[in-house]
Amino acid sequence: MISMTEISPAINSINDVGIFSPERDINVYLEHIWKSYFADIQPVNEVCIAYCYPWKTRLGVIRMTLDENTSFIGINSLLQVAQVPECVLITTIAHELVHYVHGFGSPRPRLYQHPHANSVVDKELEQRSLGEQLYLCNEWIDKEWYPFYDKQQKAGWVSWLSARYSARRGRRSR
Ligand SMILES: [Zn+2]
Repeated sequence: MISMTEISPAINSINDVGIFSPERDINVYLEHIWKSYFADIQPVNEVCIAYCYPWKTRLGVIRMTLDENTSFIGINSLLQVAQVPECVLITTIAHELVHYVHGFGSPRPRLYQHPHANSVVDKELEQRSLGEQLYLCNEWIDKEWYPFYDKQQKAGWVSWLSARYSARRGRRSR
């Protein structure tokens, strides 16, 4: 018979959980990526970023408030897990920044009718020296994402993250 003789410490922060990488501070990544690969782009409104819902089929999202004052980038919270290669996190943030540059989820002039027309995002990532990261990211996603997701789901992390991040889906824009 198993008896619970010890009380587990409460998990108050995502960094208390061993599988997550405490160094994956999303704001630090955004700042670094912007400086390194998008230095020619001046933000025309406030750009916020946060981890979001652990979607099964979406890595990131960008959207803008109706008053256009804030663009919000949401990143799948499973990308904090140490097992996910860093190139996946970097490529996902950069992908959303490309949408920002192209005028999607941003007040900048819209350059294309559709955000993914003719692989414009991938082409822009390549032009910005992110082709290698993109290639490695795609390779990992193709081979590993669904088995990885299933594993996180079975371990209970998907529902834990869902509960934690569902309230933030609507973002903090005020
Ligand atoms: Zn996209």
